[in-house]
Parts: sequence; structure tokens; C-alpha cells
Amino acid sequence: MKVALLSESPADEAALRVLVEAVLGAPPHFVAAGLRARGWPNVAQVLPAVIRHLHFQTDTDALVVVVDSDDSVVHTAAHERPDYFHPQCRMCELRAVFRRAAKKLPPAHGRTRVMRGVGVCVPAVEAWYLCGRDASVTEAAWLAGQGSGRQPYSRAELKWRVYGTDRPSLPHEIRCALQAVERHRRDPRRLEGDFPGFAALARDLRAWTAVQKNEQKTFESPRGS
Ligand SMILES: [Zn+2]
Repeated sequence: MKVALLSESPADEAALRVLVEAVLGAPPHFVAAGLRARGWPNVAQVLPAVIRHLHFQTDTDALVVVVDSDDSVVHTAAHERPDYFHPQCRMCELRAVFRRAAKKLPPAHGRTRVMRGVGVCVPAVEAWYLCGRDASVTEAAWLAGQGSGRQPYSRAELKWRVYGTDRPSLPHEIRCALQAVERHRRDPRRLEGDFPGFAALARDLRAWTAVQKNEQKTFESPRGS
């Protein structure tokens, strides 16, 4: 399984590699680094070109994209209805980009599409890093805060709690990120429970094997049958 990652920073990517491996239960082959976007809306803007490139120019099987929600609308079960799309929800928007690409691009390299893995950190990746360490930090707490208009914590506070500063150096950021995700390496279920934006990513990853089997059938069956 060849997996590409599109994230907002090298620290995010280091942590994501561990989390993807934790969910899959085995290390995939991560294709060369270098897919980076500078936050929202840049991720959504470059994503169509990234998918197209991976689809036609490489034999990458899947692309994992993870972004922070910041203050955008949080993806909820209500958004999962068929054909539903919330224009201010980053999960809905990123999924839509993958859907449009799958519709538009003809098969290449023996597959119909680059498989999708989309996760959204609510409100920022530092909340995921605090999972298992600070029980007050959960996606539900953030959602409740949006409902009441009173934030339970700010994004800067989360950075302070993780890095001891809101302006960490990159090496310090990577060190803290790796230390944090180590808690979930052997069992990512706590992170899935506290952060549905991560659980959605985990569901995408676990669906890959079935998608690949279907693809194989499609390409093995004789034409026109
Ligand atoms: Zn949504």
C-alpha cells in the first residue's frame, strides 16, 4: 500500500505517519514527503492538482489529508446523510474534492482512483496531541463551546499546553508531536472516541482494503462483462 500525506507542517506529517500506521496495524509505504499546504484554504485549493498528479504520474494508492478546523463548522453525524454537503465544513469540502476527482479522472495505473483519507482536527492538531493527557480537551467540548459562544480553550492555549509556548521551534514541535502520538500507537481507540474528526479518518483507512479488492475485481473482469 503506497500512501501519500498532505498536511500543514512537517511536524503534523511526522505525527500522522504514526497515527496512520496505528490504524492500519502495519506500516504502509509512505511515498516521498513534500506535499505541504499552507493552512486553509490553501489545502483545498491545491488538493485537486495533488490528486490529479498522484493519479496520473504515480502509482500511489491513497492520499491522507488532515487539516485543522480552526473556527469553521464542525462535521457532525448530520453531515453524513447521502448527498448532503455543508459548505462551511472542511471535512465535507475535502471529501467533495475527492468525489469530483473520482468522477472526472479516467482510470490510470490499474486503478480507478486514489483512495481517500480525510481527517479534521478540532480545533487544531494540538487537541489530538492532548488526548489521553487532558480530559477536558475533546471535540464535544469544542462543539459545546461553539453552541454556547464560550470557548472552552483557545488554539493558543492548546499550543501552550503541548509545547510550553505558542511559538515552538520546528524541532521542538516535532519532538512534542511524536511524544504525544506515541500514546496512541498501540491503540488509537481513545483518540477515535474523543475526536470524531480522527474517527472519520480511521474509517477511511480501514475501508481501503475492501476498496482495493473491488478494484482488482473490476480490472480482472473481462471487458464488457
Ligand atoms: Zn461536514
